[in-house]
Amino acid sequence: MTEKEGVIKYRLTHKQQRIEAIFSLKALDAWRQILFKLALIGQDPERYEGLGFGNISQRLQEHSSQFIITGSQTGMIVSIAPEQMALVLEADIQHNSLRSLGLYQPSSESLTHASLYALNTNIQAVIHVHSPVIWRHTHALQLPFIAAEIPYGTVAMANEVARLYHSGCLQKTSLFTMLGHEDGVVAFGDTIESAGLKIIQYLALAQQCE
Ligand SMILES: [Zn+2]
Repeated sequence: MTEKEGVIKYRLTHKQQRIEAIFSLKALDAWRQILFKLALIGQDPERYEGLGFGNISQRLQEHSSQFIITGSQTGMIVSIAPEQMALVLEADIQHNSLRSLGLYQPSSESLTHASLYALNTNIQAVIHVHSPVIWRHTHALQLPFIAAEIPYGTVAMANEVARLYHSGCLQKTSLFTMLGHEDGVVAFGDTIESAGLKIIQYLALAQQCE
């Protein structure tokens, strides 16, 4: 079973208001542009019924539980600007609700990002891409994965991410796939760079399995 992109499944309280630019987007935008060029983030009429795919977030400040994330349906944008980001103020994972601010609504996959930030304050960045080649070789690469029956963007997904993390197998890869979400790959790290590099590393390894 695979699912559509872009459908927000959590309860969202969103205030449509410009976010104060108290963060730097330089690294996030540079990495997003690279992933965009590799067609790991984007929008393509031939893929996922033409809906935007992939998203990036970073923790607002080192110990904050708040994070900024690319807005919903911003996949086609080449270079992201602060007004295309949303600020997640609060995420209540067990109650499936999220409070946010921004001119754009946060990505439909924000709850999965929130679940990673809640696990460890060392996690400073999360990147979700769509890579057919990494996803296809999940087992060959012995990647940690979320089972196909777990729908993306749900409490069940957040709980599964936590279970994987506590099982210890995520520490080695800092990357996992979501088998119920076509081509879905998530990487995280203490910087955007470390999360981005993980994706590139596994992209090269997956390429060798072809
Ligand atoms: Zn996705």
